[in-house]
Amino acid sequence: MLFSRALIPTVKEAPADATNASHILLSRGGYIRKVGAGIYDFLPLGYRVLRKVEGIVRQEMDRSGALEILMPALLPGELFKETGRWDLYGPTLFRIKDRKGGDYNLGPTHEEIVTDIARREIRSWRELPKNLYQVQVKFRDEPRPRGGLLRGREFLMKDAYSFDADEEGAKKSYETMRQAYVRIFDRMGLRYRMVQADSGAIGGNTSAEFQVLVDSGEDAIVACDKCDYAANVEVATVKPPPDLDRTATSEPVTKVHTPGHGSIEEVTKFLGVTAAQMLKSLLYVAGGQVVMAVVRGDHDVNEVRLARALKVDEVFLASEADVVKATGAKVGFAGPVGFKGTIVVDRAVLQIGAGVTGANETDYHLKNVRYGRDFVGEVGDLRLATTGDACPSCDGGTLTLYRGIEAGHIFILGTKYSATMGATFLDESQTPKPLVMGCYGIGVSRLVATTIEQHNDENGIRWPMSVAPYQVHLVSIGREDAVLGAAAQLHDALEKAGVEVLWDDRDERPGVKFKDADLIGIPLRVTVGAKALAAGNVELKPRSEPDPKKAELVPVADAARVLVERVRAALAP
Ligand SMILES: [Zn+2]
Repeated sequence: MLFSRALIPTVKEAPADATNASHILLSRGGYIRKVGAGIYDFLPLGYRVLRKVEGIVRQEMDRSGALEILMPALLPGELFKETGRWDLYGPTLFRIKDRKGGDYNLGPTHEEIVTDIARREIRSWRELPKNLYQVQVKFRDEPRPRGGLLRGREFLMKDAYSFDADEEGAKKSYETMRQAYVRIFDRMGLRYRMVQADSGAIGGNTSAEFQVLVDSGEDAIVACDKCDYAANVEVATVKPPPDLDRTATSEPVTKVHTPGHGSIEEVTKFLGVTAAQMLKSLLYVAGGQVVMAVVRGDHDVNEVRLARALKVDEVFLASEADVVKATGAKVGFAGPVGFKGTIVVDRAVLQIGAGVTGANETDYHLKNVRYGRDFVGEVGDLRLATTGDACPSCDGGTLTLYRGIEAGHIFILGTKYSATMGATFLDESQTPKPLVMGCYGIGVSRLVATTIEQHNDENGIRWPMSVAPYQVHLVSIGREDAVLGAAAQLHDALEKAGVEVLWDDRDERPGVKFKDADLIGIPLRVTVGAKALAAGNVELKPRSEPDPKKAELVPVADAARVLVERVRAALAP
């Protein structure tokens, strides 16, 4: 493909609302254009990437034995009404009236439609298992579409639904999907973890998220460096922390003046203590009461666990006024010693032999505080797991905190939809039974953006070979016949060998061409310029090479062969 004939409208400025790397770079690189809030065009480069992601997903789904179908995006309202989701979905569901006044909706997900297929077409246990999947546009009326392709109102998804005779079969289908997902994310060149999600009603390991590890991600997860354990911080189990300071002090509690120093950071600096010696005391409102949660200074309160410990649905951080009222001091000076209300204490606090905490008096802290002697409270696991915690699942592994973007989700649905909608089959004794279902999603258009979130630098995108819009970016410098001739020859040789090559043949300055090449992010760049060519060479530079000056000289006669080999090596499993 010749750049001069392509449609690659690169621009210097990102859209004003773009904050994510992927949103900025997809826009600047001429991959996508906004049409409306959360609605995008895929321009030629963007569509090539989308099709590659889709291709990998489709190949691995087919390999797993799943059957591709295509269900409509426009759905008669009766199906969602049958399961009650017409009302349950709330304003996120796009509802439409047709000319006759009939209710329709745009599909946000397709459980009802696929269950309708199953109840009409699957009759006997002999036909099971089945896994039906599609790659289809979905719609959700997000209140705040943002992040470009990360959270749009129209997006491309792969959704699959398995049908089995019993739960054991469903677990097998689930495992088959898990393996397919691992192959998909491996082939895409992503760093990710499979995270056990809360399993809900069915129990066991029947639900997992595939989280791509990205600093800008919305979800916080901890993962072990030694085994497969990974979990959302809110559900992660916390092993007792290593002993830090068990020597209980015999010194009396002493009040110290800490003028204006309320935060953990300020107090540790001012008093010369570590955060692990601090008793962080936070006030929450739980069921109308103000309660105090005490955790170690370097730990954070897990509000889900705190709510569970207090037997309420939710807890909220107390307002400044509530803090003043409950402690008699400004925010930053609360502490458990002498506190009149309910106190809940994280287990790790028990190991602090001589702690520092707020004195419930503005501008004062207390030293030499320890649990049992100076205050008591209900003890439990109240903190968020974090970097450095011991893995609860293996011996000697350590947890690290990551941020992630959910790129896939697999779970066993059970008979929720089949029972409601009457999707039954006849078992071996001719008894009708509801089909046991599983559900497996991958956000295909979201993966385009997620890949960039993980693969970029200050100059642009760095595509993994498997999903790059082209594999080789050929840059010719100057208009000399020798240069253009050598570039044309290389371009043709690569195309003939099946390599996807974009030749920047424009009459532009080298600086402009290299800037665009870095921005677009094709994995291999080869430059044909008069100077190197006079010595019989071209310059080869992988996009992953950070040093802009570091290019490899390759004899022009070998260039096509070397590039073909590099592309194949990068695509090899
Ligand atoms: Zn482990």
